[in-house]
Amino acid sequence: MTHSIKFLDLQARLEQRLESGLYRSRRTLDGAQQACCYVDGKALINFSSNDYLGLANSCEARVALTNAAAIYGYGSGASHLISGHQRPHETLEKNLAEFVERDAAVTFSTGYMANLAILQTLAGKGDVIIADKLNHASLIDGARLSQADSLRYPHCDLNALENRLKKAPQNKFVVTDSVFSMDGDIAPLDVIAELCDKYQAILIVDDAHGFGVLGKQGRGCGEYFGLNQKQLPVLMSTLGKSLGGFGAFISGEQQLVDYLIQFARSYIYTTAMPAVNAAANLANLQVMSQSSERINQLKQNIEYFRHQCALTKLKLENSTTAIQPLLIGENQRLMAINEILLSHGLLVGAIRPPTVPQNSARLRITITATHTAEQIDLLIKTLNTALEKIE
Ligand SMILES: *Cc1c(COP(=O)(O)O)cnc(C)c1O
Repeated sequence: MTHSIKFLDLQARLEQRLESGLYRSRRTLDGAQQACCYVDGKALINFSSNDYLGLANSCEARVALTNAAAIYGYGSGASHLISGHQRPHETLEKNLAEFVERDAAVTFSTGYMANLAILQTLAGKGDVIIADKLNHASLIDGARLSQADSLRYPHCDLNALENRLKKAPQNKFVVTDSVFSMDGDIAPLDVIAELCDKYQAILIVDDAHGFGVLGKQGRGCGEYFGLNQKQLPVLMSTLGKSLGGFGAFISGEQQLVDYLIQFARSYIYTTAMPAVNAAANLANLQVMSQSSERINQLKQNIEYFRHQCALTKLKLENSTTAIQPLLIGENQRLMAINEILLSHGLLVGAIRPPTVPQNSARLRITITATHTAEQIDLLIKTLNTALEKIE
């Protein structure tokens, strides 16, 4: 039956992946994404989601979904430029722009598509994209699509970045995550913005893990570093992380947004997200903007986790965000530790190459606003037990 693709030798490559301890399996959750989730009839405390504010299953989003479905039905039926752009999309864009203190915003179906759009529409042949080595895969793919020359600099190495800026005579773009998705550290965007100003480069920031987390009110990296639209002209974020929804947006000057709407292939040639989805995103955005309760709780939980870990032998990385990696190194060892956590009812992301560099396999622990102190205590205790058991 699969004769036609036999020559690709899929089986051999699958087996190779299995043997090297890199095979990934999906877990099926029965029920909502939340701090306590259900897998194969078993309740697990979930330290693996990006639902940092606990909004993925908020009452507000659920009510908004039901109400919007009564008005807009389900599917959008067309791309944005034909007839798929409905009122909730329009309102969501206005509210997102306001929240991140930008003039305008345009929403995309996913962050992956938004990043492809930014690089493909803004950069072209002869331009140069200067990117942090640990940037998200979608930014790397966007750079490839753009056909611009792509230069990487060692992670957050400002001297290396400046050297590359000095040597590039062409139109140049500096591209970086604000919070690195597998490390949780924050790019020094204040200095990077100064360098961009000095060398006339355009700064593009992916704020997927900063939006809803950084800044007093969770407005993201712009608020945290006090960077306005002039200093940080292209700001992208997803709606699938802190906002607990699905989708993404790019914000900046009206002209930037107009340009993306005209030329971004991943915006034009795809169906608009369902209006119910836009409405639910909007409801969660309102929760985020009207109260600091969730973000304050998140910050408190992160601090509690780090403080309690410091009282034990656990060595955390230098992260103050919701992403708290625990480096293990070897793949098989990581998976053995992960099994122990699972047997104690704890679900943590086990991240292996190629998502992270060779020999840097890690537990990617994510803290959310909805975790209790007891749940965090249990995680720390079990981590210590597991690390002792698996030398
Ligand atoms: C998740 C993520 C994306 C992709 O966003 P989706 O909406 O999930 O497609 C892009 N950049 C970073 C840094 C991310 O973590």
